[in-house]
Amino acid sequence: MRKNIVAGNWKMNNDLAQTETLLTALKNSTITSNAEVMVAPTFTNLWSAYNTLKDNAIEVIAQNMHFAENGAYTGEISASMLKSVGVKTVILGHSERRAYFNETDELLAKKTDAALANDMRVIFCFGEELADRKSENHEAVVGSQIKNALFHLEADAFKNIVLAYEPVWAIGTGETASPEQAQDMHAFIRKTLADKYGDAVADSVSILYGGSVKPGNAKEIFSKPDVDGGLIGGAALNAEDFFAIVNAF
Ligand code: PGA
Repeated sequence: MRKNIVAGNWKMNNDLAQTETLLTALKNSTITSNAEVMVAPTFTNLWSAYNTLKDNAIEVIAQNMHFAENGAYTGEISASMLKSVGVKTVILGHSERRAYFNETDELLAKKTDAALANDMRVIFCFGEELADRKSENHEAVVGSQIKNALFHLEADAFKNIVLAYEPVWAIGTGETASPEQAQDMHAFIRKTLADKYGDAVADSVSILYGGSVKPGNAKEIFSKPDVDGGLIGGAALNAEDFFAIVNAF
């Protein structure tokens, strides 16, 4: 069966000292749930985070990467660079990357291919904006984000793909999708996968929810049958809150 996963996306927060302080607090926390736990510090702190968590169940993952293997891409980071510092999983397509760095479905397809070619696991993010939901286009938008970026892949590739549905209107706003809205969308996503790849693939892919998940709402959201975990932003910056969410499973 598919895995439950809780991943903390630290975004552009925490310098080296702050990263070590938070990691030490995480190391001293007890995981009582069956969820896989991941944290995504910023690039400059991945190596020290990897070393700090080496003997721990918490996996260190990256927030982004470039599709090229190397070359003249000033300021960018490749899959092999991430792997060389122990990172085996990368978040791609976060709505902040799409909104502020113009990442398109087409570019994200290339990044996904590069990650998979390097035997990395991808947490692929997508989600509709408020206007899409108000105009009841949310399923169409999400369906096309998934198809455009991922449907060129073979079924086998989905062994290394985790999906993260993050409605843009719920990220960092304090406004969460209701557990029912999350479940409805996750069921739609799974059906979209099943229509293309069959039930076995669709049932094996973990689909995370992201957007203002907090200790107080995690249990109810995670209790929904098609919600297999969360991608956590703000609440992942506090060890106690993050572990309350992890242990909500
Ligand atoms: P949030 O962010 O939990 O702060 O809403 C979620 C995310 O951006 O992954």
